Amino acid sequence: MPTEPGTAQRPTFPRRAVVTAGMPYGNKGLHFGHVGGVFAPADFMARFLRDRIGRDNVIFVSGTDCYGSPIMEGYRKQAEAGYEGTITDYVRENHERQASALASYQISCDLFAASGLEPAAPYHDKVTARILARLRERGELAKRTTKQFYDTQAGQFLNGRQVVGRCPVRGCKSDKAYADECDLGHSFEPEELIAPVSQLSGTRPELRPVENWYFDLPSHASGLAGLVERWETDGQVRPVVTSTVREWLAEPVIYIQNTFRAAFDELADQLPAHTVTEPQGKASSFSVTFESWDARDQARETLVSHEVRLRTGKTLLPFRITGNIDWGVPAAGLAEKDGGGPLTVWCWPESLWAPISFVQTVLDRAPEGRYSSPEWRDWWCADDAQVFQFIGQDNVYFYCVAQPALWEALDEGLFQDTPVANHHILYMKKKASSSGDVAPPSAEELLDHYTSEQLRCHWLSLALDQKAVSFQPKPFDASVSHRDKKTGEDVLVRDDPRVVDPVLKESAFLTNIFNRLARSCLYGAANACDGHLPRATAASDVTEACERATLDFERCAHGLSIHKAFSVAENLGREANKRWDAESKAARGDDEAYDAALANAFAYLRTLTLLMHPFVPRGCELVCERLGFDAGLFFSWDHAFKTCAQLAEVAGETPREHRVDELPPRFDFFEKHPSQVKKGAKNGKGSKGSQVKKGAKHANDTTEGRS
Ligand SMILES: [Zn+2]
Repeated sequence: MPTEPGTAQRPTFPRRAVVTAGMPYGNKGLHFGHVGGVFAPADFMARFLRDRIGRDNVIFVSGTDCYGSPIMEGYRKQAEAGYEGTITDYVRENHERQASALASYQISCDLFAASGLEPAAPYHDKVTARILARLRERGELAKRTTKQFYDTQAGQFLNGRQVVGRCPVRGCKSDKAYADECDLGHSFEPEELIAPVSQLSGTRPELRPVENWYFDLPSHASGLAGLVERWETDGQVRPVVTSTVREWLAEPVIYIQNTFRAAFDELADQLPAHTVTEPQGKASSFSVTFESWDARDQARETLVSHEVRLRTGKTLLPFRITGNIDWGVPAAGLAEKDGGGPLTVWCWPESLWAPISFVQTVLDRAPEGRYSSPEWRDWWCADDAQVFQFIGQDNVYFYCVAQPALWEALDEGLFQDTPVANHHILYMKKKASSSGDVAPPSAEELLDHYTSEQLRCHWLSLALDQKAVSFQPKPFDASVSHRDKKTGEDVLVRDDPRVVDPVLKESAFLTNIFNRLARSCLYGAANACDGHLPRATAASDVTEACERATLDFERCAHGLSIHKAFSVAENLGREANKRWDAESKAARGDDEAYDAALANAFAYLRTLTLLMHPFVPRGCELVCERLGFDAGLFFSWDHAFKTCAQLAEVAGETPREHRVDELPPRFDFFEKHPSQVKKGAKNGKGSKGSQVKKGAKHANDTTEGRS
């Protein structure tokens, strides 16, 4: 067997990779969407890359977004309800909850930091100061006076989250819009917010002028246009990214309802140069296009002051860098806020460069030699490095418009990242939002019903790269399944034993197929090979199937098509099991044929365990351990095409010397969750095939009745 089959067609991987997962706000724990839609896919990629390019060449970071008005507002409400800690205590508690939830899902961040807490905070403050100084020196920042909401009853300015209204961006139906952004990620000017209400007093706040620093995002339009063109031909970047970026590159437009046409015509010659586009078909509004965002701004002010109702379309606007709230990274050297004290940095821009701060923190604190380079620029600026940023589709504007423009403006070699945006995971077919009507379960709550490996497999096979998909865990499903004929009462899905839990679709593969294959190999080796590897080598069609699956898997993982990678592994596992069933049955009483069947099963198991490692790390590492191999050797793709016998040779043994463990009876590599085990099953385990009758030890897992 060649060691490196198909070399010519194989995708290329970077020398070094940074993987990031969008940062959760520090005002709550994690809901399932954070883990399923962002952290699990990022973890898959980080683990795959560690196996593929070496663990010293991968850094996976994320962290709690500690600053900003959502956190201040969350803290204010808690304090009102009697919470006695400081805002730092509040953030730390939420950060710790998040970190522990991620750990229970085996999310393997090299550092899950917090932007405002040790150890990352001092790095982050320094990186922030350096970036601001650099942007200012390059003439990329300008002061602008805008208006901020002021609650006249409470006598204070309101931060972004303390004002709630409806989103003014055309086509957006969000009623969770704050001072200058909505919960779907649209940015707008505060005066555009529809029906604002102060969360402090419930009154309508007024707008007062404030001064802030802004980044000249519109001047980077051509750089962004070039980038999106390149992304459109890059198989690793998804259409949801490029189509969203294109929307933001549109010209500055105002949409006005036809009923205001006369009023508009009267004002038209007071407006900056513009082009009117008449309503298309039966559309109820016409549009007016301007030459620049500030010309549109002027026009908007004139129109609004004459009570013309309008909406603006997406376009590039100056990106706010500072805010006048206290709870933020100091905007060192930029300016004083009104009434003294430094301005702070708005939480969005600083969260865009927080992963750089986190990587610096990781490298600085790592023991010497842990990573292939201790210099952060080798990870963020080098030609042979790549940054994979896993985000939700709501954040494409920030990570794929604002961030690339900032990187271009800094002009210090930060390359453009590979954004990996997922569509939403819906909950019970609706958009899940922790403040919405259908409150989704927290990440922790789900673990009362499922194992983390079951959930990882389910989420990773949802194809969120292509469309929004609904997550419908049966134990939480309160919809009506059917009406009971006897009692006439409605039976809920969660109480109906006939309904199959869609979340468990993939776990049948783990608990039945994969688990069974691993047990068959290990029980078989103990029974028939005296605890060694089989003597035979695998059939050539088996070796070829394993090689093909490995190469297919590699291509899917490289293309970030995680659900397809899962299918490749799943199909190989099903094929392996079928073949084992047939061959072990046929080998009854024939030692040589049995050894050959076992050799085939071992070949499949070796490949399947390698491929499934990024999905279900714990179970795969257990298989590796029981097979008697060092995980570093077994899971390294340097040896991806080596059989167990060849791996033993790499480890300095002859295949005949290598020992595999004897498994205790009824051993499970992938256990079911205790809640899924039928009552009365022994040992709290109920997976099929694990309830082997006494005296028929291993019968199910080797050859039936072989003796
Ligand atoms: Zn919106």
